[in-house]
Amino acid sequence: MTFNLTKDQIEIQQRARQIASTLVAENAVEVDKSEQYPWDNVKALTDAGFVGMTIPKEYGGPGRSFLEANLVVEEMAAYCGPTGRIAVEANMGAISAVMHYGTDFQKRLAAELVLAGDKPAICITEPDAGSAASQMTTRADKRGDKYVINGKKHWITGGGVSKLHLIFARVFDENNVELGIGGFLAIRGEADGLKLGAREPTMGLRGIPETELLFEDLEVPENMVLMPPSGFKRGFADLMNAYNSQRVGAGTVALGLAVGAYRNALEFAKEREQFGRPIAEFQGLQWMLADMSVQIEAARSLLHKAALSAGQNGSPFPDPTLAAQGKIFTSEMALKVTNDALQMFGARGYSRNYPMERLARDARMFTIGGGTAQILRTVVASRILEMKLPQTREGFLQMAEREASKKSLQAAE
Ligand SMILES: Cc1cc2nc3c(=O)[nH]c(=O)nc-3n(C[C@H](O)[C@H](O)[C@H](O)COP(=O)(O)OP(=O)(O)OC[C@H]3O[C@@H](n4cnc5c(N)ncnc54)[C@H](O)[C@@H]3O)c2cc1C
Repeated sequence: MTFNLTKDQIEIQQRARQIASTLVAENAVEVDKSEQYPWDNVKALTDAGFVGMTIPKEYGGPGRSFLEANLVVEEMAAYCGPTGRIAVEANMGAISAVMHYGTDFQKRLAAELVLAGDKPAICITEPDAGSAASQMTTRADKRGDKYVINGKKHWITGGGVSKLHLIFARVFDENNVELGIGGFLAIRGEADGLKLGAREPTMGLRGIPETELLFEDLEVPENMVLMPPSGFKRGFADLMNAYNSQRVGAGTVALGLAVGAYRNALEFAKEREQFGRPIAEFQGLQWMLADMSVQIEAARSLLHKAALSAGQNGSPFPDPTLAAQGKIFTSEMALKVTNDALQMFGARGYSRNYPMERLARDARMFTIGGGTAQILRTVVASRILEMKLPQTREGFLQMAEREASKKSLQAAE
């Protein structure tokens, strides 16, 4: 594993920086203020080939790696968090699940949409099933050659703008027997039962709608069922495995926001004078800047390592532990760095005339969405302890009972 970027990767990074530091930077304030989806930025990403980057060549994409897509994400997020998030969802998450688990038909369909600029929506969270996502109640009932979905999701990124939707639901056969959790594909505008609910008034990342989605007898034909490799029974685990790419991407948006804040603070510290000297001459601020640079470098290394782990150990997706470690560290790092950078701007940091408050507001999301920092710590703990760590009382008690009976059997031998 190497962290040295190839010539080609450096070129991608530079092209992305060029777009990010011009068009995306110019639009950033307006995107935040208007709370409108940045279609101009999406067009620029699309024209540059920065959407659908991970789509294989046989489906019309450039077949690039998660690392390469993340280079673009970081550059975009350094100027505009929502544009960074669009680059994530147009390259990872739902699209990579379809590209690895989908049928030829589904891959062609998804590739065509995403390569034209669609950022798919991934629909997991429900009002009563957030961290406990596997307790979702949205159900897909088999009826002949289709499934009928009913239920409600909320906090769906891109609700009302995304075309392709990957919907997680509990699957029931025609005898009402539960089969597990599956993924269902639906296209906005083509599926009558896919209804848009209320939009959340969010603290930051305001250029992307977060909405409720309602499924009212949404009919999904069999050919739109995204069948996980081990079927519905382990469907949730397989689908969440694909989600590890999005976790690395989300961490990279947080990294980009921190980088943007740090760069601004560095410049400001050299320009702003107090006591007749640039504030960069004060050791208190020098150490803050040094700490920011250390945190950013460490976060980037973790995320690159996680992105590069895809394709190793038999999984096409990033390693779950590395993805969780990367997102925990980077999301918490971004809170500190954006906050410290804001502090260095003094009152100006608190003003909406400067980008610092926007970067700090945007960064606040990443310890929450896509698996909270607490839940991801449980993921890491489970892996390093090599233990299942059920969070429900029932699951915990069953595990305790199993352990107790194992011990009594051993004692009897
Ligand atoms: C901006 C944004 C975009 C999002 N986009 C999407 C999207 O596109 N698609 C989608 O499906 N979802 C999306 N989400 C939802 C997100 O994934 C959930 O918010 C997240 O999983 C947490 O669920 P919750 O908000 O219901 O919090 P809860 O699960 O109610 O958690 C509340 C608190 O309890 C803690 N907690 C819960 N259980 C445990 C435990 N076992 N141990 C320790 N602590 C625990 C949590 O860490 C948290 O601090 C988005 C969220 C945000 C904020």
